[in-house]
Amino acid sequence: MHPLFLPRLVNGPFEDPALFIPFQFQRRALIFDLGDISRLAPRDLLKISHAFVTHTHMDHFIGFDHLLRCLLGRETDLSLYGPSGFIANVEGKLAGYSWDLVDRLSCGLRLHLHEVHPGRLLRRSYAGSERFAAESDATALPFAGPLHTEPAFEVSATVLQHSIPCLGLALKERFHVSILAPGLEAIGLQPGPWLTRFKNALYAGADPNSDFDLETGAGDPGGRFILGELQQKIARITAGQKIAYITDVGDTSANREAMVAFAHGADQLFIEAAFLHNERERASAKHHLTARQAGEIAALACARDFKLFHFSPRYEGRGEELVREAREAYQKTRDRVGRDSEA
Ligand SMILES: [Zn+2]
Ligand SMILES: [Zn+2]
Repeated sequence: MHPLFLPRLVNGPFEDPALFIPFQFQRRALIFDLGDISRLAPRDLLKISHAFVTHTHMDHFIGFDHLLRCLLGRETDLSLYGPSGFIANVEGKLAGYSWDLVDRLSCGLRLHLHEVHPGRLLRRSYAGSERFAAESDATALPFAGPLHTEPAFEVSATVLQHSIPCLGLALKERFHVSILAPGLEAIGLQPGPWLTRFKNALYAGADPNSDFDLETGAGDPGGRFILGELQQKIARITAGQKIAYITDVGDTSANREAMVAFAHGADQLFIEAAFLHNERERASAKHHLTARQAGEIAALACARDFKLFHFSPRYEGRGEELVREAREAYQKTRDRVGRDSEA
């Protein structure tokens, strides 16, 4: 199976958090957190359509300027999401520059800011051509988890507690469509851009009895198929991919309960491990997780795999101790949960 999303941490675990999530076979990407992203090539930055920021501490947000600079002068839309206070934070950044020259750039960039509150989402847009003046007052929308929904996937958030509100983030593919090469071959079809159209028809829930037309040319013989019959022949539908991202949270009982439920069943959980557990008091005072807590949460959430990041600089050169502690906790917790469910 080719996963649709190929998430990768932009930096090493001692550096700023940012999870870059490009889409397989598409010039498109999402990003969770905007720490220092100078390692991303401009061609990757240009793929970003939506950026989700857990909170605006500097190490998670300093990359906003870099992204904005790269997109300036482009005819594109960038949607940004963050917790309470986010709109004022971005407006503050925008107010920090002089925009008199954007007229010459014929700047077609538009920013759509979204601020997450419990039960409520505020949205406000800004046009580069208007020197990033707000287009209107913020509008309020209901918020019950999902932040952004497309036919193929959804990004959702939960409000967790750091020293300030901090978003846990998850990306969930609705279901996964694998294309079967032998199936294509059997009916004499070549893979091509039409496959994206075919998958989109499935994600959009199109009537299986409807017609699906193939263009002729570009290696395709063309032809008309019944969508459901074509699906039977060339596709296999499996569970969708889930990626969860949690950072900068204290291990309080309310946070733990929310994290475990939110990350449930993740194929990949990216989770911070700022401290070793023998410094759990320091971790708690700074509203961060220890490696042991991260491993326990990953196991309780039944995450298939987890990756640690956001190590405190005090462990420079000792990163493997954090990894070992989290792995042990993950294994122990899984064993214990397994025994409890057998009993
Ligand atoms: Zn923080
Ligand atoms: Zn941080």
